[in-house]
Amino acid sequence: MAVPVSQMWTVASYVLKQKLRRRKQYPLVLMLEPLFRCNLACAGCGKIQYPAETLKRHLSVEDCIRAVEECGAPIVSIPGGEPLLHPDIDKIVDELVARGKYIYLCTNAILLEKHLHRFKPSKHLSFSVHLDGTREDHDHAVCRDGVYDVAIAAIETAVKKGFRVTTNTTVFSNADPERLQEMFDTLMDLGVEGMMLSPGYQYEKAPDQEHFLSRTGTINLFRKILGNAKRRWVFNQSPLFIEFLKGKWDLECTPWGNPTYNLFGWQKPCYLLQDGYAETFEELMNTVEWDQYGRASGNERCQDCMVHCGYEPSAVDATFGTLSGFAASAWTTIFGPPQLTPEEMAEELPAPTTSPQLVELET
Ligand code: SF4
Ligand code: SF4
Repeated sequence: MAVPVSQMWTVASYVLKQKLRRRKQYPLVLMLEPLFRCNLACAGCGKIQYPAETLKRHLSVEDCIRAVEECGAPIVSIPGGEPLLHPDIDKIVDELVARGKYIYLCTNAILLEKHLHRFKPSKHLSFSVHLDGTREDHDHAVCRDGVYDVAIAAIETAVKKGFRVTTNTTVFSNADPERLQEMFDTLMDLGVEGMMLSPGYQYEKAPDQEHFLSRTGTINLFRKILGNAKRRWVFNQSPLFIEFLKGKWDLECTPWGNPTYNLFGWQKPCYLLQDGYAETFEELMNTVEWDQYGRASGNERCQDCMVHCGYEPSAVDATFGTLSGFAASAWTTIFGPPQLTPEEMAEELPAPTTSPQLVELET
């Protein structure tokens, strides 16, 4: 199964419309966090450390619909917490599907098989299963034995029942490139539609502070993981974002591209930082001092960040907004990702320049 043509068309026409309107800051993916409660306590998680009274609360269906309509992004990602713990998650999904949104429902999959009957297979709905590695590595990352096997069984069942299934993997400094590649093969064999990768963000609240990656560390590690990517590995990410992770394409963060709405309101400025909240989407867009964020701003908290929620929208914008970006994406889509030489993969490279100028993609 591949990303439906209708989804690709919806995203492409939406971005082109923003370009024609000369709108520089526009949302592409709404990160809708309906609750922070979870049935796991992963070492790298920065989302579940709220007081018990906050963890007990969740957004209502109406709150979710209002946020989605205010924002207008064509794609809605629903992370958490664990969204399957929300009593009305099926209603939220139904309402968003009825509005033509494309939804990525993120889940650790512990409850997925049990709750599958609450959902209908649809080209608008994809389950995005959290998997950080092969059995040993994933169970270690989520701090509980047996979770990998449960997630794999749930993926198999969901694929068999006709659901779109993708995965999301957070990469930390202790990741083993070969074992991650083994996981990519397994997931492709299972019929997963696409895989999403991202380096972890250094949340101050995360219990494990040892294994977050610096920017240089991210590039060096992703060169080893993806330097010789197989054609059969499908990533549900822009080719330019993958090249960015390998240090082969320079992008600047566009935090407005993935705005976040949760129990506290519209989070300023992005999914990772919490510099206050706005009551409305319009207030968020108009009151954040966007030039204070991103690597070029000098903001210390942004210097090592290469996380998808800041840079995937930048990659999409570069694809549709520049000839070089479009050409490089088309080339990669047709001929496969550029392969690195063994020397390039072994080399410990410095981080790319802070310039937002695009560098040449080596094809
Ligand atoms: S499954 Fe996700 S939300 Fe739950 S603890 Fe792990 S990282 Fe956090
Ligand atoms: S660089 Fe990362 S932390 Fe900084 S604004 Fe962008 S997404 Fe947020």
